[in-house]
Amino acid sequence: MLKKVLIANRGEIAVRIVRACAEMGVRSVAIYTEPDRYGLHVKRADEAYMLGEDPLAGYLDPLRIVNLALETGCDAIHPGYGFLSENAEFARLCEVNGLIFIGPKSSVIHGMGDKTQARNSMRAANVPVTPGSEGNLKDLGEALTLAGEIGYPIMIKATSGGGGRGIRRCDNDEELKTHYPRVISEATKAFGSAEVFMEKCIVDPLHIEVQILADSHGNVIHLFERDCSIQRRNQKLIEIAPSPQLSQEKREYIGDLAVRAAKAVGYENAGTVEFLITGDEVYFMEMNTRVQVEHTISEQITGVDIVQEQLNVAAGLPLTYQQKDIQFRGYALQFRVNAEDPKNDFLPSFGRVTHYYAPGGPGVRVDTAIYTGYEIPPYYDSMCLKLVVWALSWDQVIARGQRALDDMRLHGIKTTADYYQQILRHPAFRQANFNTSFVPNHPELLDYSVKRHPSEIALAIASAIAAHAGW
Ligand code: ADP
Ligand code: ADP
Ligand code: MG
Repeated sequence: MLKKVLIANRGEIAVRIVRACAEMGVRSVAIYTEPDRYGLHVKRADEAYMLGEDPLAGYLDPLRIVNLALETGCDAIHPGYGFLSENAEFARLCEVNGLIFIGPKSSVIHGMGDKTQARNSMRAANVPVTPGSEGNLKDLGEALTLAGEIGYPIMIKATSGGGGRGIRRCDNDEELKTHYPRVISEATKAFGSAEVFMEKCIVDPLHIEVQILADSHGNVIHLFERDCSIQRRNQKLIEIAPSPQLSQEKREYIGDLAVRAAKAVGYENAGTVEFLITGDEVYFMEMNTRVQVEHTISEQITGVDIVQEQLNVAAGLPLTYQQKDIQFRGYALQFRVNAEDPKNDFLPSFGRVTHYYAPGGPGVRVDTAIYTGYEIPPYYDSMCLKLVVWALSWDQVIARGQRALDDMRLHGIKTTADYYQQILRHPAFRQANFNTSFVPNHPELLDYSVKRHPSEIALAIASAIAAHAGW
């Protein structure tokens, strides 16, 4: 087993990894930058080292992180998600320095991080991909010709994109002419690469993804699927496992496809294969070569600790489970509670968490790095808490989600929690009838009044008195 792991991340996922290490008797090393000095991951890890004043540079400095891991006697690095997690160069630097990168081989990260290369590998493995360009687009002229062949609507997508950015739908030549240079400029700024490609736009699809686990002995299994169709601007808000919209036959089909995709590229460790589904059509969209934000819901329905399996297989051990051992029970929902104001175009709402009471009770899990008094720094992701609920049936899991969201008190910042209550009340959601257009098609759900809890009002009055009295 591994002895000591450096966690090259922050926030809730760093805390999640510390927890997995603690349960396995593995020592954990946190890194942080100055604005993160009060971060929970810093407090919870066995050791913590500051990597400079700049909010981001320390988390994005491969050489410094690898050197720190070597100096502190770590045998492995867990990259979490975001930051360096899909940086093939970072994985390679670990490999050449004798450190275990907890993820797939750098060559696999490289191949899958390039979405056109990934599409080509999948075509070769007989996995159906979204119709589109063979490779990257050379220029607008080529894009216009291809769009004519494929038929509108189409999507222009950044080849190195991620996090829902660098994607634009075009419904006609005019839009393509406008959006083509925009995606190139977004891609260059966000991902340091100007490469873009084209996909047919699948109208009103389900976003269904399969969690897979693979070891270094050639074993690959899947932990069934997640339905991430509840999205805003291509970013996930609420995730569901298993999908309440799939037949058992379709479920088995995509599970097998995902395993085939992983085997075709020699995949190791945890990963996710994302598909778009419409009617009987299933299309491979991309593979994420890391632990995902929503791995929690697959854990709740299968009982498998995905992060612990990541550490196991990174240490060279075989997977703890075979496919036949994996069963799912009930439903799980994850709410990404973001520090954003839904009523103000989801503008980030950073600041001090004046009061936080965690929801609890049966079937409730919270993954977060916030606490009462914590000041959410403005430099990072706006996701501040993941609320996960589990129950035996679809109706029960919705009721539990409503109850747990209501249980939670998070004062001082605006969040998306009340907006999620609106979604849970909607008949289409309750009937398990939704696709990726659900959020854009229901702007009326943003029209709610925020319930002021008595404790919140009391707090506001107290601070007004304190301010008045000059306390
Ligand atoms: P998931 O499917 O795990 O939710 P996301 O695409 O939402 O994946 O990404 C998870 C996190 O990683 C988000 O904070 C997102 O901003 C970040 N991220 C993902 N891909 C990239 C990328 N290529 N470049 C920068 N950040 C990324
Ligand atoms: P990222 O790497 O940013 O996660 P993805 O390729 O996974 O990018 O796409 C993110 C989301 O954008 C999908 O979940 C889906 O809602 C939408 N999307 C992407 N490609 C298409 C497409 N060809 N047709 C329709 N929707 C798409
Ligand atoms: Mg994706």
